[in-house]
Amino acid sequence: MRDFDDIRRDLAAGTATVESITRDYLASIGRQSGLNAFLAVFSESAVEAAREVDRKRSNGTAGSLAGMVVSVKDVLAMKGERLTCGSKILDGFIAPYDATVIARLRAADAVLIGKCNMDEFAMGSSTEHSAFGRVHLPEDEARVPGGSSGGSAVAVSAGMSTASLGSDTGGSIRQPAAFTGVVGLKPTYGRVSRYGLVAFASSFDTIGPFASRVRDAAHVLQTIAGYDPYDATSSAVPVPEYASALTGEVKGLKIGIPREYFGPGLNDEIRSAVDAALRTLREHGAAVTEVSLPHTEYTIAAYYVLATAEASSNLARFDGTRYGFRAPEAAELNGLYVRSRTEGFGPEVQRRIMLGTYVLSAGYYDAYYRKAQKVRRLIAQDFDRVFAAVDCLLTPTTPTTAFRAGEKTDNPLAMYLSDIYTTSANLAGIPGISVPVGRDRRGLPIGVQILGKKFDESTILRVADVLESAHAQ
Ligand code: GLN
Repeated sequence: MRDFDDIRRDLAAGTATVESITRDYLASIGRQSGLNAFLAVFSESAVEAAREVDRKRSNGTAGSLAGMVVSVKDVLAMKGERLTCGSKILDGFIAPYDATVIARLRAADAVLIGKCNMDEFAMGSSTEHSAFGRVHLPEDEARVPGGSSGGSAVAVSAGMSTASLGSDTGGSIRQPAAFTGVVGLKPTYGRVSRYGLVAFASSFDTIGPFASRVRDAAHVLQTIAGYDPYDATSSAVPVPEYASALTGEVKGLKIGIPREYFGPGLNDEIRSAVDAALRTLREHGAAVTEVSLPHTEYTIAAYYVLATAEASSNLARFDGTRYGFRAPEAAELNGLYVRSRTEGFGPEVQRRIMLGTYVLSAGYYDAYYRKAQKVRRLIAQDFDRVFAAVDCLLTPTTPTTAFRAGEKTDNPLAMYLSDIYTTSANLAGIPGISVPVGRDRRGLPIGVQILGKKFDESTILRVADVLESAHAQ
């Protein structure tokens, strides 16, 4: 994987141009089309944009991401381009505007190279639920890259872009980052504008980067973070200088190990990898203590009640009259809605809509939705309590390494449990990062997760950077 430092060195030495770098990535995408990581490749506009960045470089006006080539999960709007969300229901829909994150990347002179495959409407943990076919793990094509941002993760791990933007509602950046051996950062809720992100569960959704290096994730976050008048939930908390947080030092930092994240179901090799990461941090002078997040066992249940409730409401807009696909043979309005939604949405999305509608229905609202909201608060309070005593938490990102395609498609609960360590951060709104720390005996990547205090991405980036330096192969 070529990182942004490599690229800048080549640019400075005159051995590459932004155009040649972009062409290298386009060739890499072409060679690896069998992985099915991309839904659209901007062969022409990317080269044009690259030439423009080269022009700006020659007169000293290029932006901070000049030379970085970025792919984008197809859940983000790019003006004039198709926006599919991995779904048939958006067939033919063209985005009328740029998402704020896209506008900011363009303004910083990143080259946008294509849109990445994903689980339909970001619902899934394997990128098998795409209307456009599954994404393959480069290490073993019979396996999945995780999800729902599986295309973005593979676009980085297989050298098809320097970085990628994904979305994380319950783990969809961190889990695929762990499965593919790249860095994946889920920012604090509100740190990055969601304007132009197709909503799945609005109170959980976040946008963040995949990159081959922690430093590159920091650069992308720097560019996309900050208040946006178009997203009322975006925060005005000042954005710090993230790259300067990467000091290589964690001396005196207090790191908590939540005991509930090491229970049954955690693969032994992952447990050993987390232990090794802990030893590294101790050797660097961090103080490691065990802590407890007592409501952890309710995380998956609360997440799947609340996220599906919000999804059922957000996805009501796809009715065959406003966007994309319309069932051809409906005779009257209600029939049009029913047929368009039945034919347009895949089975997992339909399952989520039905679950969400059920938990919001008059007879079950108190028993499920309201109860889950209370549990969400308890989970957030668990984090508030431990963060009074420690600076960040270290956990596994996933209970297993990449699984085989088809292994969990008939068992939604088994699939949902892939997110057992990641959904809590979305329930609490805190930031989390997955950083690769090694491989299992099959050669499959292992990631560890660092969770931080709200708006303290700097600390988790700093810890991840130390782990990367010690464990990256
Ligand atoms: N895998 C989880 C789900 O299916 C998380 C998805 C996400 O973060 N977008 O809901």
